[in-house]
Amino acid sequence: MFLTPIPAFDDNYLWMLDDGRRALIVDPGDAAPVFQALQDRQLQLESILVTHHHADHTGGVEALRRATGAKVFGPARERIPGPFTPLADGDTVQALGLNFQVIDVPGHTAGHIAFFAPERDGSPLLFCGDTLFSGGCGRLFEGTPAQMLASLDRLAALPGNTVVCCTHEYTMGNLRFALAVEPDNKDLIGYHARCTALRNNGEPTLPTSIDQELLINPFLRTRHPTVVAAARRFDPAAHDENTQFAAIRQWKNQFK
Ligand code: ZN
Ligand code: FE
Repeated sequence: MFLTPIPAFDDNYLWMLDDGRRALIVDPGDAAPVFQALQDRQLQLESILVTHHHADHTGGVEALRRATGAKVFGPARERIPGPFTPLADGDTVQALGLNFQVIDVPGHTAGHIAFFAPERDGSPLLFCGDTLFSGGCGRLFEGTPAQMLASLDRLAALPGNTVVCCTHEYTMGNLRFALAVEPDNKDLIGYHARCTALRNNGEPTLPTSIDQELLINPFLRTRHPTVVAAARRFDPAAHDENTQFAAIRQWKNQFK
């Protein structure tokens, strides 16, 4: 199986998985680079997986479905270009011979879902849309901090070697903020150096892994004493895990 991040717009990745013959695509906000990749590698598009309704994740769905006949799978509680198979927590999707489990991850949007395949050439695979980024998490457009914290907790509980396919190259900006939260985190300092080198070579920092994110992502570390202390410096009224998570998210929103 081949996993490929197809760059789109300024900083999106449209993740393509293929077996050399058939392909699936996740969150195709733009059809053109997907058509190009399918043509270059002589692949037949079998399935389109959609995590949430935003245009940069759905803009190419209809053109790809019409041209290829691919099946579309998406969140039951959101409006995406139909027809599609609506999915909610606990549902499974068969695609490319893999079994994807659907996980509800409200927060960025109200009906956001993630797709988790327990087995893929030995490593589990996660398509998490705009919920989890390397070093960060999605903005809370439709959900509450408590919902997003619960969603991230579910992703953090997946196997540590899970390959995490995030849909934006936001890593460098996220790590700049993460270093403001935890300036003495040695794992974070090392990861920042490695990601800087990747970006200087024009390479993606993604995919990441759950183990990596647990070491460096402040939004998965909001219960760590250092992060709690940082949250309280930003908002002295942040007295429990939800308000501390909210404080870190708010601080990131206004971080320059
Ligand atoms: Zn989004
Ligand atoms: Fe997005």
